[in-house]
Amino acid sequence: MLKNRTAIVTGSTSGIGLGIARALAADGANIMLNGFGNAAAIEAVKKEIAGLGATVDYHPADMTKPDQIADLIGATRTRFGAIDILVNNAGIQHVALIEDFPVERWDAIIAINLSSAFHTMKHALPLMKARNWGRVINIASAHGLVASAQKSAYVAAKHGIIGLTKAAALETAATGVTVNAICPGWVLTPLVQKQIDARAAEKGLAPDAAKRELLGEKQPSMEFVTPEQLGALAVFLCSDAAAQVRGASYVVDGGWTAQ
Ligand code: NAD
Repeated sequence: MLKNRTAIVTGSTSGIGLGIARALAADGANIMLNGFGNAAAIEAVKKEIAGLGATVDYHPADMTKPDQIADLIGATRTRFGAIDILVNNAGIQHVALIEDFPVERWDAIIAINLSSAFHTMKHALPLMKARNWGRVINIASAHGLVASAQKSAYVAAKHGIIGLTKAAALETAATGVTVNAICPGWVLTPLVQKQIDARAAEKGLAPDAAKRELLGEKQPSMEFVTPEQLGALAVFLCSDAAAQVRGASYVVDGGWTAQ
């Protein structure tokens, strides 16, 4: 379905972004990878994605740096001739009370989890509009819809990206470009593993008990969402069947926000 389409997935060296890159590649898209990691690990990801039949490249843009983001968009266009799909996925977390929250962490979370999507869209939307086809998928979170204590920056950024998604969807509503958000619940990636490890250390819990406690607080299914499930949803949002899905926030959260 996505043959001859080109996708940028920010933060695709790990976790959810990697799962989405795999799914888009398996469906035929060319992939521009992005994210941090050592050279050998990035090379391994490139090889794996190429093994799915995709033409693949990697750009090291730091999502806190608007000039590097502009270069990511420009380099992708030069390399592949177009940008059809943009997945704004890169994200980080920090857990602390507001009074203890380091200002530098607040700024980094807002920059990576929210502002980077403004910068990528600022450069990519004109290219998509000019060809009258495009798909932007912003990876928000259950925390884009409801809050948790000690996650002020993350919750603010994720609520923000849902608003940004709606505004961008309205600006493109009469075109072939759609803009939507996905709101996952807990997915067992390095970002969440860190929180499980912190919980286990703080409470003296075994890793499995810490996992169960984490799920039990928020996710009634008691199952993690998988990157594969999110990849399949991203492929659907890129399909013709989803051409009139605009400004939506798709919840994939094991029942988290149904409560
Ligand atoms: P992860 O830590 O596995 O992956 C994060 C990716 O972002 C990595 O590739 C990393 O290198 C990249 N990244 C971090 N800082 C960057 C920067 N400055 N510039 C470029 N790339 C950068 O995390 P994940 O869980 O896969 O998270 C991916 C997205 O999904 C995030 O936006 C996160 O908020 C969101 N999310 C995650 C969960 C979850 O439970 N894991 C739930 C809801 C939403």
